[in-house]
Amino acid sequence: MLSADFGNLDRDVEMVNASKAGWFHLDVMDGVFVPNISYGIPVTKAIARLARKPMDAHLMIVEPHKYVRKFADLGVEYLSVHYEACKSNLHETLALIRNSGMKAGIAINPETSEEFLTQYLDEADFILVMSVHPGFSGQKFIEGSTEKVARVKALIEREGADCFIEIDGGVGVGNIAALEAAGASVFVAGSAAFSGADPMANIAALAGN
Ligand code: ZN
Repeated sequence: MLSADFGNLDRDVEMVNASKAGWFHLDVMDGVFVPNISYGIPVTKAIARLARKPMDAHLMIVEPHKYVRKFADLGVEYLSVHYEACKSNLHETLALIRNSGMKAGIAINPETSEEFLTQYLDEADFILVMSVHPGFSGQKFIEGSTEKVARVKALIEREGADCFIEIDGGVGVGNIAALEAAGASVFVAGSAAFSGADPMANIAALAGN
């Protein structure tokens, strides 16, 4: 939803409701963990009011544990926090997300090795692989991210964990099939969905029909 028109938010939420998109992906940025500020609780609340599909909030903020309950209260079903933002209390933060009734995700930046995830896999429901540097929409997919998805998939299998993989950043019709083949099952598309005159058709193309 970072690529939505916030002056016409209701219209864009209804477009997603009517489209082939599975979820609402909400990129929350604080201007500290990433060099940009997007939106937070009030906009999430406004989307929640109309959303008829699950909400997936991606917290690109420091100290995300402070806000977990607030997102749960708004009806968010999937909540990811960054490994880089909470190294010392990631175990506790993941437990808090699950105890709040949500699925817990660990997001990793492009430069973060997937090997750091090993000790957390049993406590997470999904891994969000960033394929751009977090902070801005409309960036170009970082080469090598497909291979990283494959390495995360291998790690999950090696550890016998039960996590799915979400890929976020620069996803479009040109790379979505390769990302699925590498092991991703959730695809975040912002600019690829909202660009041009017909977002519904863009989303249908991304969904493969
Ligand atoms: Zn995101």
